[in-house]
Amino acid sequence: MIEKLNILREKAQSEINVSNDEQSLLKVKSTYLGKDSEISSIMKQLKDLSIEEKKQVGQLSNEIKNEISNLIKEKLSIIEANSSKKISFDHTMPVSDDTGTLHPITIVAEEVVKILKKMGFIIVTGPEMESDYYNFEGLNIAENHPARDMQDTYWLENGKLLRTHTSPCQVRAMEKYGAPLRIAAPGRCFRNEDLDACHENTFFQLEGMVIDKEVSINNLIYVMKNILKGIYNKDVEVRLRPGFFPFVEPGFELDIKCPICDGKGCPTCKNSGWSELCPCGMVHPKVLEASGIDPKVYSGFAFGIGLTRMAMFKYNIADIRVLNSGNINSLKQIGIE
Ligand SMILES: [Zn+2]
Repeated sequence: MIEKLNILREKAQSEINVSNDEQSLLKVKSTYLGKDSEISSIMKQLKDLSIEEKKQVGQLSNEIKNEISNLIKEKLSIIEANSSKKISFDHTMPVSDDTGTLHPITIVAEEVVKILKKMGFIIVTGPEMESDYYNFEGLNIAENHPARDMQDTYWLENGKLLRTHTSPCQVRAMEKYGAPLRIAAPGRCFRNEDLDACHENTFFQLEGMVIDKEVSINNLIYVMKNILKGIYNKDVEVRLRPGFFPFVEPGFELDIKCPICDGKGCPTCKNSGWSELCPCGMVHPKVLEASGIDPKVYSGFAFGIGLTRMAMFKYNIADIRVLNSGNINSLKQIGIE
């Protein structure tokens, strides 16, 4: 019996050595360790042996069983490790659900762009590193104009700046396309702000501009209401308050009835029921003129939607810093499918 056990041991060892997949290892396992295996039948015969033989054969059987079991386990873990290595290089594997979603601001930007495209707007972009001319001068914000102080600017060593708003895209588009014109320019802007729940040094705007004959404020309100209805899936009440921006005349602050509390008052709207959404107004004749458009023939309106703020309202995000944090867990809690 001892000899038989030793032969089984060697056979099992060599079969495990040549097995290179899980299935064949499981087969080896059942052949040598299963209920109907030869080792098992030897164990059953122990009772007919002398005490001395019983001890010897029993011990050896157990030893061999443990050894085979361990060898199989080892080989299985090697096979598993190899196969997971292969998976990490297999670009054809289906994408896991865990890879993430679009960022809330990207989603809102794409939704606004889609709505504006339907109304005949074209999408334009501009550089984030801008010149003084496009960011200020061309928008009727002369040097020493107090409006520059309101936009704490990051100046660069090369004399340029990080754009403080998407409005430079207005000037660039007017120069490039002339009138009539309908543009939307989503993008990232920068201001040297102290960070808190409501302020970020990096935020997203969407600039909109329409230039045509006989454009009025009513057209502006119509466009804004259309955008808001598309984003919040309901009619959102708006109001205009006078606001001063050098590149529009008259200028307004457009407020929306807080979509979170429906105007009843909540922490997000500071209990006022209204929230500032975007500065807007009729394009200043000097701005048209500077870009070669005749203000006697054409008029226009422009608006700068705060995409960051819009995303905060849409997804009920109380702290602006969550959006730029890159913290996947926080962003996931926003619950975007
Ligand atoms: Zn509210």
